Amino acid sequence: MKLRYCRFGQWSLLFAAIFFACLAACGHSSTSEGGAPSAGAPQAATFPPAPAAETTGGFDGARAYKHVEQLVAIGPHTAGSEGIRRAQAYIIAQLKSFGCPVEEQDFSVPGTPVGDVAMKNIIVKIPSANPNIILYGSHYDTKRMDNFVGADDGGSSSGVLLELARILCARKNAETVWLAFFDGEEDFNFTWTGNDNTFGSREVAARLANSGDVPRVKAMILVDMVGPANPVYKREYNSTPWLVDILWSTAARLGYGKIFVNDRADIEDDHLSFLKRNIPSADIIDLDVPYWHTTADTLDKVDPRTLAITGHVLVESLPELEKKIK
Ligand SMILES: [Zn+2]
Repeated sequence: MKLRYCRFGQWSLLFAAIFFACLAACGHSSTSEGGAPSAGAPQAATFPPAPAAETTGGFDGARAYKHVEQLVAIGPHTAGSEGIRRAQAYIIAQLKSFGCPVEEQDFSVPGTPVGDVAMKNIIVKIPSANPNIILYGSHYDTKRMDNFVGADDGGSSSGVLLELARILCARKNAETVWLAFFDGEEDFNFTWTGNDNTFGSREVAARLANSGDVPRVKAMILVDMVGPANPVYKREYNSTPWLVDILWSTAARLGYGKIFVNDRADIEDDHLSFLKRNIPSADIIDLDVPYWHTTADTLDKVDPRTLAITGHVLVESLPELEKKIK
């Protein structure tokens, strides 16, 4: 994903102040990738454990964290690599152990810098009598960079989505729920340009269009980089306002108003693949972390409490979404 540029709500600031504030806030934008590498092996997490699942809507942050741990233990898993095949095997095995119906969506991307790349989206389709679909998504590939394991970028959101799958596959939902694990979100050329990214989500969106199912998808919620300590989720500028409102008002009701804040960010990510098909979509992401797209994105950066808070909001906002789209 990529931060496009900062947007400020207070235009009364002097231009110079805005300019320098933006320099500070956007210090890790696409022009400053490849920051300091981590020193030595990743440290074990030093954060307190996740809160008990019964305090976060049944969402178990400790379980989500275990998934992140397992994905990180695989090592780098870029699209087309041996590592990603192990990540796929892990995700599929976990989903099946939850009793989820799993669909493997294989496709090929020709002519990348590493040749033709076989990719795989992993999609859970939880049926219901209601044809309306709510689609949750996360990318699970890691950035093509030596020793990059993507604990937060790829790992955290995939851990959250796996735990969400455990909950939603075990119960009857008021509408059809899909959970999509996207391959190939990260670019091959290091710098985010053109169509050299979001391969998996664009494939899912294209297949929805081909099958005529686009109108059935009433909401698409993307999670990405949902693991940092002291997270700040800004309202993503491209996202569908009513959908952001539901997520953010749920968060405020649960006491997370200082995490789901009203500042704005403009971020290119997998949700754009669905917005381009006129599917209401939103992105929950904290991109403002110093280790973004560096080898310092290791397991010690992921706070189980943040996974729990994010999952709690996803679980508790679902009834609100149901009311809106029924
Ligand atoms: Zn990334």
